[in-house]
Amino acid sequence: MDIDSHAEELASALGVDKTEVKDDLENLLQYSVPIDEAKQSVRRKHGGGTTESVTPESVSIRDISTEHNSVNVTVRVLNVGTRTIRYQGEDNTIREGTFADETGTISYTSWQDFGFEAGDSITIGNANIREWDGNPELNLGANTTVAFADETVTVPYAVGGDATLLELEPGDRGQNVEVRVLAVETRTINGRDGETEILSGVLADETTKLPFTDWQPRSEIEPGASIRIEDTYIREFRGVPSVNLSEFSTVTSLETPVQVTENAPRMAIADALDAGGMYDVEVVGTVLEVRDGSGLIERCPECGRVIQNGQCRSHGAVEGKDDLRIKAIIDDGTDALTAILGTELTTTVYGGDISDAKDAAREAMDKEVVSSAIAERLEGRLYRVRGNLSVDEYGANLNADEFERFAESPHDAATAALLEVEQ
Ligand SMILES: [Zn+2]
Repeated sequence: MDIDSHAEELASALGVDKTEVKDDLENLLQYSVPIDEAKQSVRRKHGGGTTESVTPESVSIRDISTEHNSVNVTVRVLNVGTRTIRYQGEDNTIREGTFADETGTISYTSWQDFGFEAGDSITIGNANIREWDGNPELNLGANTTVAFADETVTVPYAVGGDATLLELEPGDRGQNVEVRVLAVETRTINGRDGETEILSGVLADETTKLPFTDWQPRSEIEPGASIRIEDTYIREFRGVPSVNLSEFSTVTSLETPVQVTENAPRMAIADALDAGGMYDVEVVGTVLEVRDGSGLIERCPECGRVIQNGQCRSHGAVEGKDDLRIKAIIDDGTDALTAILGTELTTTVYGGDISDAKDAAREAMDKEVVSSAIAERLEGRLYRVRGNLSVDEYGANLNADEFERFAESPHDAATAALLEVEQ
């Protein structure tokens, strides 16, 4: 049902103007209030009754669809994340996570504390369904009941919220990780309550590394420390997943040091793109093309952006600073991305530094000789690229820390990759 239909239904039930009802609803919905709660609030405002008398259906998770208004369901609590949201000037603590039964999983938001924890088996009465990202989600509110189930609900999923860093994806809530702190720094930011100190840095475990932010600095988080963090939430930060510690997260020091990986996980490009960006990842693929904007380039001295014909988009006419860069399209047969190599790696690949490149350009009276030489060297060959992958509106860019010819029968593999692309 869209907001118009909801407004129409409410307006006729209450005998008031539809536009007014719709304005009220829209106002509440923009604060992420679930539609059923919003309708009740509007109903109360106009002196209507508090609930519709509908008996919800008892269902399995697999059968829950956005067509349902509300349901009864018996589930296992896989995890519980806690978060504060500010609504109409007040902080409200909500709980979010995932429920499961033997037929599937569903995410939930609980607008009050029913006291359940990860691992509990519970029967929920009258949970509202709302659509989130095209999928149904359970909303537990004032009209919902929660009772402990008589028997444990057995589920084919991991219970408790423990995860490796590699498993985490933006949007995950109530996750627990055991990690080593690789780097940490204190920063002062301008938050909604004025200036606040936060911690940010890098965490690692056996699977990978991820950046983190601790919004309420904790003393256990120091370089080299092995810690267990419970109740984190994962956000996307500059195109990669980032571990966030809220006021509800707990940090415990671990006696046994957490083993950390020296290597980045090697992944198929399609899988890395599906993950929505990764902090440290390695792919092996063929350089299909060295893109425009590679070779000898000029940057704005103010902002570092690449400039064209002495013009910066932000700073107008500027005296450009010479630099070397490569933007190479890498394809491994599953998908493609753009590897971006900075000055140092480009110097290695080109076999000369900025002044060598300028000499070559001057001699040929053409800057393009530099990118041509690079293209000649790279195109059609297999490379291993390691770095930070961001996937956003600017495309899939892998900012390379390492870029190396891949030795395993490169000719065969490159040919195979090219054939796969052409098919
Ligand atoms: Zn500029």
